[in-house]
Amino acid sequence: NTNRMVLEFESRSQNESFARTVVAAFAATMDPTLEELADIKTAVSEAVTNCIIHGYPDKIGIITMRCSISGDEITVEVEDNGVGIEDINKAMEPLYTTRPDLERSGMGFSFMEAFMDELEVESVVGEGTLVRMRK
Ligand code: ATP
Ligand code: MG
Repeated sequence: NTNRMVLEFESRSQNESFARTVVAAFAATMDPTLEELADIKTAVSEAVTNCIIHGYPDKIGIITMRCSISGDEITVEVEDNGVGIEDINKAMEPLYTTRPDLERSGMGFSFMEAFMDELEVESVVGEGTLVRMRK
């Protein structure tokens, strides 16, 4: 008895708020608290922003968001087919960023980890990155 949805959209900055709104609408069916909803939206924003800025640094690519709700648990996957991450452990360290020039602070993964109960990252250089989060 799992409810699923898949959304594909282009890596344009205005689609960050679009993705956040969609995940919130989908998650509404599980009757979350406002705090839970805010946490999920923040985590999704961080993941989508990373695809836009880092995954596709100089082109528009496709971002796929998959969500499933099973009982009181939501799983969200955010995937790009972009440049990939060389060292995932390093990338996930707080304050680590490869783009200080863009005034990034290196806190995106830390927020995803803090706001969700589980975070997994899979990435292959030259193929792309998949972030899976559960709450
Ligand atoms: P902030 O999120 O605070 O604005 P940031 O994006 O650099 O800064 P994180 O979100 O924690 O920080 O990501 C850390 C690093 O991991 C990035 O600087 C980038 O090198 C790499 N990274 C994250 N997501 C992706 C992705 N989808 N594709 C390629 N590299 C990524
Ligand atoms: Mg980030």
